[in-house]
Amino acid sequence: MQSVIKLLADLLGLRLKDRIALEERLRHIRATAWIALLASGAFSLFNLLTEGMLVLGLVELAAVLLCLLPAVWLSHQPHRVAMAESLMLVAAVAILGGLIVFGGVAGTGVLWVFTAPFLAFFLAGQRRGWWYSLGFIAATASYLLWVAPRLPFAYAYSGEFSAHFVLALCFYTLTAAAFNQLRTRFEEQLQQRVEQKTADSKALLEQMQYLATHDALTGLPNKVRLQDILQDEMLAASEGTQGLVICNLHLERFFELCNVLGSVGADRLVRHIAEHLALLAAGHGTLARTGRDEFVIVYRLSHTALAPKVLQQFIDERQFSVREQGYTLYIEFTLGLAIFPDHADTPQLLLDKAEQAMLQARKGGQQWTLYDAEQEQLFVRHHLLFGKLREALVKQHLQVHYQPQIDLLTGRVLGAEALTRWNDPDSGPIPPAVFIPVAEESGLIRQLTNWVVDECMRDCASWRAQGLDLTVSINLSALNLLDPALLGVLQAGLARTGLQACHVNLEITESCFMASPERAMEVIGRMHDCGFQLSIDDFGSGYSSLTYMKNLPIDELKIDQSFVRRLLQSPGDQAIVASTIELAHNLQLSVVAEGIEDTATADWLRTRGCDIGQGYCFARPAPAEALLAMALRLGTGRELVA
Ligand code: C2E
Ligand code: CA
Ligand code: CA
Repeated sequence: MQSVIKLLADLLGLRLKDRIALEERLRHIRATAWIALLASGAFSLFNLLTEGMLVLGLVELAAVLLCLLPAVWLSHQPHRVAMAESLMLVAAVAILGGLIVFGGVAGTGVLWVFTAPFLAFFLAGQRRGWWYSLGFIAATASYLLWVAPRLPFAYAYSGEFSAHFVLALCFYTLTAAAFNQLRTRFEEQLQQRVEQKTADSKALLEQMQYLATHDALTGLPNKVRLQDILQDEMLAASEGTQGLVICNLHLERFFELCNVLGSVGADRLVRHIAEHLALLAAGHGTLARTGRDEFVIVYRLSHTALAPKVLQQFIDERQFSVREQGYTLYIEFTLGLAIFPDHADTPQLLLDKAEQAMLQARKGGQQWTLYDAEQEQLFVRHHLLFGKLREALVKQHLQVHYQPQIDLLTGRVLGAEALTRWNDPDSGPIPPAVFIPVAEESGLIRQLTNWVVDECMRDCASWRAQGLDLTVSINLSALNLLDPALLGVLQAGLARTGLQACHVNLEITESCFMASPERAMEVIGRMHDCGFQLSIDDFGSGYSSLTYMKNLPIDELKIDQSFVRRLLQSPGDQAIVASTIELAHNLQLSVVAEGIEDTATADWLRTRGCDIGQGYCFARPAPAEALLAMALRLGTGRELVA
C-alpha cells in the first residue's frame, strides 16, 4: 500500500524536486526550442503550399515567428528560462489546437497532438505538467463536444473518434507523466552522484595536500609547509620590529632510542617529544618536524631578547626526560640557531644556516651554536678538501716522505718514519695536520693508510735488497685500528715485497684507544702476534699512558715533541723525559725522542740513555732517495761502536 502511495506521489510530482538545475534546464530548452522551430517551420511551409491548409499554415507560421524564435533567443538567457518555456507551451497549444480544429491532412493532424502531454511535463515539470495536460484534455474534450459541431470550417470528427481521441490523450498523459518522472529522477540521481564524487575528490585532494605538507606521525608541518610558514613569519617580522630565531633541533641518539623502544615505542616517543616542543613553541612561534630526528622551531623574538642568558634558558627547556616502557629516557637536543634578518633573507637559506649551525655544534660537542659565517667557510673548505683528497688519492698527488731515525749511540740510521705529503697542483703543499683529520672524518683514512703501507713496504724492501738494515714506521689512526681488513693489507704487503713483519713498525697514538679500547687492544694483540713492531706515538700528550704501557704488547715509546723541543730550557721537561726513559727501559721498551732540533738536545738525550732520535737536527722528512743516500753515508744497523 505504501509503495502504491509512494508511486502515486512520485507520479504527481509531490516528492521529487520539481525542477532540475538551471544549467540543465537551459540546455533542455535550447535543444527543444531548436527542434520545435525547425519541425514547425517545415510543417508551416508544407501547409502553406498545400491546398486547403492555408489557415493552419498561417497559425504555425505565427507560432514559429512569435513564440519559437523568441524562445530560442531567450533560452540563452538564464533569468528568462521560464519565459522561454512558457512561449514553447503557448506555441504547442496554438499549433496543436490548429491541428485539432483543421484536422491536418485528412484528419491525421491529431496524431501530432499526442506530443502535447510529453511537452507539458518536459517543459513545465512534473507538478505543473499535470495542470497543463489535464487542462488541455478538458479543452480538447469541450471543443470536440460543443464547439466543433457549431463551427462550419472545423474538421468534422465522428463522435466515436472524438471519444477514442480524448481517451488516448488521457493514456498518453499518464505515459508522459511516468516517463517524465523517470527522467527527472534519473537526472536527480545523476546530479547527486556527481555531487558526491566531487565532494569525495575534494576531500581526497585536501587529504593529499595535508599529507604533502604535514608529518604523518605528529601532524606537525613538514619541510614543505615550513617554507610557507617561514615566508609569512618573515613578512610579518619585517613589517614589525621583531626578529626571528630559526632553531634546528637535532634529537641525539635517536637510533639508539629506536632500538631500545622498537618502532611503535619510538613513534610514541616522537609524538611525546612533539607535544612537549609544541608547548614551548605555543604563542611564540611554530614547530615543524623536518626529519626523522629533526625538528625546527621558528621563534618570534625581539632582538634584545637574544641575550645569552635568555638563549641558555631557551635551550635548557629543550632537554627533558620521559618515561617509556619502564625506562627513563633523557631526551637531548643539539641546537643550531640562525637569525632573521641577520643571517639570511630567504626561508631556505635560513633553514640551511640553522642546520649548518647545528652540525657545527654537534661536531664541536657543544649543546648549541649560533650560525657563524666564518665557521661556515671552514666547513665548506673542509668539505671541498674531502673531495680533493679523494681525487688526490686517485691521481697520485700524494707522496711518502721519510724522516730518518738515528741510533743516538752510534749515529747510524736505524729506520725511517713514513710521513705523507700532499702537493696539490692548484693550492700547493697541504700539511698533514690539515688533511689527516679530513681523511679521518670522511673515512678516507683507510684507503690512504693502505696506500702508505704499499708505498713504504716497497721502499723498505728495496733498501734492504741493497744491503741496508732499515726498518720503516707507519702512522696508524684510530679508525685504522677498527678496520678488520688492515691486518690483511699489512700481510699482503709483506707477501708482495718479501719484507718481514719485524722490519715494520706501527705507530699508534693514545687517542686510538678512546673510541673502542677493547677492539683496539684486540687488533694490536693480533698485530703483535704477527710479528709487527709497535710504538706508542706522542707519548705523554694524552691520558692513561701508564695503563697502556703496562697492558699493551708494545716495543717502543716515542716521547712527544712538546717535551723535546725546549728540553734544554725546561727543567720540568727534562725531569719528565729522564723518568720516561728510565720507566721505558725498566719495561724493556726502547725510547725514541722526536722533534730534536739541535745537537745539544741530542747530546743530552744520549747521556740520559735515550736510544733513538728523530728530528730536523738529523734530517727533515724527504723522498726515499734522500734517505737512501743518508743511510749509505752514515751506515745502518744496531751494532755497537768499538
Ligand atoms: P707525527 O707522527 O708525530 O710525526 C712527526 C711530525 O713532526 C711530522 O710532521 C714531522 O715532520 C715533524 N717533525 C719531525 N722532526 C721535527 C722537528 O725537529 N721539529 C719540528 N717542529 N717538527 C718535526 P708532519 O709530517 O707534518 O706530520 C704531522 C702529523 O700528521 C704526524 O705526526 C702524524 O700524526 C700525521 N701523519 C703524517 N702522515 C701520516 C700518515 O701517513 N698517516 C697518518 N695516520 N698520520 C700521518
Ligand atoms: Ca708518528
Ligand atoms: Ca709523534
